[in-house]
Amino acid sequence: MIKASQFAGKTLAVFGLGRTGISAALSLQAGGATVLAWDDNEAGRLAAEEKGVTLGDLNTADWSNIDGLVLSPGVPHYLPKPHWSADLARQADVPIICDIEILAREVSSIPENNRPKIVAITGTNGKSTTTALIGHILNECGKDAQIGGNIGRGVLDLDRIHSGSYLVIELSSYQLERTFSLRANAAVHLNLSPDHLDRHGDMVGYGGAKKRIFLNQTSEDTAIIGTDDEAGKALLCEMIARKSAPVVPISARRSIGSGVFVLGGKMFCTQGKRVEEICDLSKAKALEGQHNWQNAAAAYAAVKSLGLKPRDIAKAILSFPGLSHRMETIGTAGKVRFVNDSKATNADAAQQALNSYDEIYWIAGGVAKEQGIEPLVPLMKNVKKAYLIGESAPRFKRTLTKAKVEHKISGHLQMAVYCATRDALESGASHPIVLLSPACASFDQFADFEIRGDAFRQHSQQIIDLFEAEMKIKRGDDKKAMAS
Ligand code: ADP
Repeated sequence: MIKASQFAGKTLAVFGLGRTGISAALSLQAGGATVLAWDDNEAGRLAAEEKGVTLGDLNTADWSNIDGLVLSPGVPHYLPKPHWSADLARQADVPIICDIEILAREVSSIPENNRPKIVAITGTNGKSTTTALIGHILNECGKDAQIGGNIGRGVLDLDRIHSGSYLVIELSSYQLERTFSLRANAAVHLNLSPDHLDRHGDMVGYGGAKKRIFLNQTSEDTAIIGTDDEAGKALLCEMIARKSAPVVPISARRSIGSGVFVLGGKMFCTQGKRVEEICDLSKAKALEGQHNWQNAAAAYAAVKSLGLKPRDIAKAILSFPGLSHRMETIGTAGKVRFVNDSKATNADAAQQALNSYDEIYWIAGGVAKEQGIEPLVPLMKNVKKAYLIGESAPRFKRTLTKAKVEHKISGHLQMAVYCATRDALESGASHPIVLLSPACASFDQFADFEIRGDAFRQHSQQIIDLFEAEMKIKRGDDKKAMAS
């Protein structure tokens, strides 16, 4: 754990006692701050207290004595409706921050030469993959790298900040809007498409939060920008004009004069007239699809800017094991392959999987995002049949009927996996894929996307085991028949 010494002697309110709230409270306490921690959920409060967090009812607290509110990223301070703790903070003129800000202040307090290197990653899609990939490359190249932030481990839970360490931090727009002091040695902005608009109001608000990742960068740092969407192109122009830090554009779609790009699976780095081929991504089993080429290009640009050698980086990229729930192959039953892409919680993310395979038996649905699956209609040529689950089923049914895509409402995931497998096996297709890529949030039927993905894995694995058992029996019968 990192001790938040920069808040010693201050009083901090912490609202939201999930993983990051608890680690923020403990880190502040260890650093010498007085903490008043609270949550609307009593069980959450008791669990935090058991871990040593000091509770304090923020409803009745004297806010004139509070120096800051550490508000959990998932709790709104403005849209769609400010949480009551944010209202109280605003009335008392108390700044609202998050755990990333606490880390940033801690790092800034260290003399510059002794600071850890910080790599920060944001974007609508691909953050976790890119964060994990950067952490993997750094570690494979012998560096002391830790990953954290939105990817699962709260940044204040990280344990080594010294001059030789690297903190690779995934940042959501929710965290970025409450972060003010972070200076990233390498900052990555992958892409931008509509998401979380209820929280940010519109794309201007959402994009504005995301580009805060470049705040405080200097000429010694590097800004890496995905330029495959219009927002990225505009951001590139803005950052070049701003001249705060050197900018490296990346693309997975076209060649770039000075930057990193991927064409036909091959990654290149260009500087003026010099073009260097880095590696062949078709050999990276866990980085299938054009979207992953964007992630790989971003990761390359980030670690290259920190001084790693191209050949070492290339070797590490090819050995990346991948992350669960992102186009993760579970196994096969005969010719049918099961792919878990539960993390695809919006149409833009699901688009990547639909683009990467043909002969898809597609399981989709849950809590739909604003655009639904309309943006996916041009890719329906790859979908043999869709199996709809969750509350979005009637809405998705309308879209699929209009697009003339065969479909059925399965209701529940298990039924969907069963029907999709049966149809895929009966289809006679050469390499059918049973794909969970829901294009929706999960919380109508599952606690989160990981639990949804785990359920898919379990249902798929049952079918795979059954299939293998049947094959074994069949092989045994065949042998017997041959012997007799
Ligand atoms: P995030 O952390 O931003 O949600 P992940 O790396 O966890 O991103 O990937 C989530 C989903 O987004 C996956 O289902 C994947 O198919 C898709 N995806 C991954 N990288 C990209 C990218 N660069 N552009 C668009 N979609 C992507």
